Amino acid sequence: MLDPSLQSVLDDVIARSQHEPEFHQAAREVLESIGPAVRRHPEYLDAAILPRLCEPERQIIFRVPWTDDRGRVHVNRGFRVEFSSALGPYKGGLRFHPSVNLGIVKFLGFEQIFKNALTGLPIGGGKGGSDFDPKGRSDAEVMRFCQSFMTELARHIGENTDVPAGDIGVGGREIGYLFGQYKRMTNRFEAGVLTGKGLTWGGSQARTEATGYGLVFFLREMLDAAGTDLDGRRVVISGSGNVALHAIEKVHALGGTAIACSDSSGYIVDQDGIDLDLLREIKEVQRGRIHEYAEARSGSARFVEDGTIWDVPCEVALPCATQNELDGADARRLIRAGVIAVAEGANMPCTPEAVDAFADAGVAFGPGKAANAGGVATSALEMQQNAARESWSFAHTETRLDEIMQSIHRRCLETAEECERPGDYVIGANVAGFRRVADAMLD
Ligand code: GLU
Repeated sequence: MLDPSLQSVLDDVIARSQHEPEFHQAAREVLESIGPAVRRHPEYLDAAILPRLCEPERQIIFRVPWTDDRGRVHVNRGFRVEFSSALGPYKGGLRFHPSVNLGIVKFLGFEQIFKNALTGLPIGGGKGGSDFDPKGRSDAEVMRFCQSFMTELARHIGENTDVPAGDIGVGGREIGYLFGQYKRMTNRFEAGVLTGKGLTWGGSQARTEATGYGLVFFLREMLDAAGTDLDGRRVVISGSGNVALHAIEKVHALGGTAIACSDSSGYIVDQDGIDLDLLREIKEVQRGRIHEYAEARSGSARFVEDGTIWDVPCEVALPCATQNELDGADARRLIRAGVIAVAEGANMPCTPEAVDAFADAGVAFGPGKAANAGGVATSALEMQQNAARESWSFAHTETRLDEIMQSIHRRCLETAEECERPGDYVIGANVAGFRRVADAMLD
C-alpha cells in the first residue's frame, strides 16, 4: 500500500505516460519501498523530488533509415531518454530489440538512475535503443544501421553530457560501429563518449565480463550474509548473452555448477555443468541457437523447447535474460524445489508477484539495480581511464569491481537495517539509491 502523497505521484506518472506498463511497474516498485526515507525527510516532498525524478529531463525520439544488403530501405525508431543528471552525465546502455518502445526505454532509464547512484560513482541515469532487430542481419547491415543511428544520436551525447554503452543487442561490434561514426562526424577522438569500447581504442579491461562477474560477486556476498557459500550449489542462469556467459564463468570459478541456460528458442540442461567453451563457440562465434549445444554434447545435455527454464530445480537462480521473465508461478515452483537465493542479472526480470513470493518464503533476493550494477560501474571506471588517458590491468579493474559490489551490498544491508527491514535488499537498494540522488537534487 502506498501512502497518499506517494500514490498521487504514481497516479500522475500513470496519467502522463499511458501505455507504458513497464515504466509504471518500475516507478511503483521504487515508490512503494522509499516510504520510510520520505517519511523521515519531509524536505523531499516539499521540494517535489519525486515528481521531478519520475519525469525524464529529456526524451529524444528519432527516425533511423538504413539500407539492407539487397538495397531495400528500412525505417526504425531510435530513442534516448536522458532521465537524471543529478549525479553526473547521463549514463546507460542502448538496447536493439524489436520489443523496444518509449515505455521500455523509460523503465530502463528510471532503474538506471538508482543503480548508478548505488555504485557511488559520479554518473546520472539514461537509456536508449531502437526497435531494430539485429537477428539474422549481416555485419554490413548492422554497421549501416549503427551509422544511421549515430548520425542523429551524436548531437545529443558527449563525454560530459551523455555516455551510452551496450545492453541487449548491443555489444562490442555495435559500439565499434557507433564510435567510428561519432569520430568521423565530430573529428574528435573523444574516447569517453561511449563505454564498452574495444581494448585497443579506449576500452577497459574487464568491462565485457563486468555485469556477469559483478552479479556473482554480489551473490557471493548475499550467501555469505546468510552464512553459506556457492560451493557445490546448483545454479540456473537464464539467457546466454554477455551477462549469462560471464555469470556462468564466475559461478564455476567460485565452486558452483551452472546447469542450465537459455535463449529465445528454449533452454538446455546439462547436469554435468555447462561446457562454457562450447557454449561460447555456439553463441558468440557462430551466433547460433542454443539447441546446437545439446546436439554437440550428444547425450549429456538436453534441449527443452516448451515450458520455462524455471522448471529446472536449483538452489540459486540468476535471471539474466530480460524483463518479467520470472513470474509468481515460476517463483513458487523454485521455492518448492528449494531455491535459497535469487539475484537479477537482467533489468527487472522478476515480476512483483515473484519478488513478493521470494520475500514471503525467506529466499534471499538481490534486485537488478544492486546485483547487476557491476556493468555500469565498470563503465564508469572506463570513463575514469579515458579521462586520465590511462589503461588499468585486468586484475586491478576486477578488484575495483569486486570492491564496488561489496560496497553496494553493504550499503543495501545497512540501509535495510535502518529502515527496520533487515535483509531486505529491495528496500535497501531503492532507499540508498534514492537518497543519494535526492540529496544531490536538494543541494
Ligand atoms: N546496460 C547496462 C545496464 O543495464 C550497462 C550500462 C552502461 O554500462 O552504461 O546497466
